[in-house]
Amino acid sequence: MKLFLDTIGCRLNQSEIESIANTFRALGHQVVGDPAEADLAIINTCAVTVKAAADSRKRLRHAVRAGAGKVIATGCWATLYPDEALALEGVSEVYLNDQKDEIAGDILGLRAEEIAALSLIREPLPGDRARTRAFIKVQEGCDNHCTYCLTRLARGKSQSRTVAEVRRDITAASAGGAKEVVLTGVELGAWGGDFEPSLTLYDLIAGVLEDSDLGRLRLSSIEPWDFEPRILELWQDERLCHHLHIPLQAGNDHLLHVMGRPITTAGYADLIEKIRVAIPDVALTTDVIAGFPGETVEEFEATKAFIQQMDFAGGHVFTYSPRPGTAAYKMKGRLEPSLAKERNASLRQVFHALGEAYSACFNGTEVSVLWESSEQVKDGTWRLSGLTSNYLRVTAKSDLDRWNKISEVKITGLDLKRNGLKGELLPV
Ligand code: SF4
Repeated sequence: MKLFLDTIGCRLNQSEIESIANTFRALGHQVVGDPAEADLAIINTCAVTVKAAADSRKRLRHAVRAGAGKVIATGCWATLYPDEALALEGVSEVYLNDQKDEIAGDILGLRAEEIAALSLIREPLPGDRARTRAFIKVQEGCDNHCTYCLTRLARGKSQSRTVAEVRRDITAASAGGAKEVVLTGVELGAWGGDFEPSLTLYDLIAGVLEDSDLGRLRLSSIEPWDFEPRILELWQDERLCHHLHIPLQAGNDHLLHVMGRPITTAGYADLIEKIRVAIPDVALTTDVIAGFPGETVEEFEATKAFIQQMDFAGGHVFTYSPRPGTAAYKMKGRLEPSLAKERNASLRQVFHALGEAYSACFNGTEVSVLWESSEQVKDGTWRLSGLTSNYLRVTAKSDLDRWNKISEVKITGLDLKRNGLKGELLPV
């Protein structure tokens, strides 16, 4: 069977769609890059913003129009709006998020035990060569009550995968040549809390590092209140990337409170200090929301100042997106879209300047880079772009294609266009 798989949204969606691809491939089926060639298309949707929901519908329509034999919708948007998904012409089935693991078994007529016994090899999806890093799902769902977030409704309560299941996926990733894996979940830091007796992220990371042929290990975002400082001891292992993403969302206590985030700015700052003491060259990145309902000028300025004070290495700014079904949807004081956009741009500027300053600290140093892209240019050489352990974007030139290889690089200056660094390959 020929299969077309598409996904939008977060890294969790990416990891889930790759798992489906691995299962089909292990049984001799082919994953194709064009829905027109496919007997079956599976589209993993997202609902995090109004735009993500619209994109989800667009991808489903695209697969139908291209002529895929059968089109299945799954993921967050399809889970929240299954009737709407089924009403799209040509979409024949919907699998809710908690049924996603059954898709391969249902189509291939296999039991869960038979699928679990397959020997898997992870490969990036066709046309997705940039995905050198393998995202591994370790947990699903979230038990928090952030007032702007739909994810909890779409993904349910926190449910962890066992260390053995995670290790099996890491083995599949290494077998497919992945040099870096990223542990990911809706609430990564809640991992193990649902086990009896409960475990913590410390146990998962230690279990994954123990006796494995893993290359680099990166963690995706960890909510500040879930961050157990004990895990910092594990950074003695060189394989752990010197990068942590700790979502902030707002830099003042009133906004944090109305967002339903159980943290204060003082608590957040204290955590950041502990991390910096344990991992001095760490890249700390974050997320913030611009234009939350009722956000005053003073609150916005406080967020800006707090971001500067935390001296982040970078961050994502999301403009508040009203999602029906969330508590924030009913809040008063929604900002004019133009004002929210203006605040978004202003916060981006702050992150950009901080990112540049962090990158500049590494000018003249020697770093290891995993090349995510390698493009041949007119003179026959290769233009490389990749990431260091501490999430610096580095570009360099090479005589050879070095895609998915790790090289030692001397940093020679800033790459202003890409908000990163330029370097030269060091002799091997
Ligand atoms: S968990 Fe959130 S970001 Fe990921 S697919 Fe679902 S709605 Fe989108």
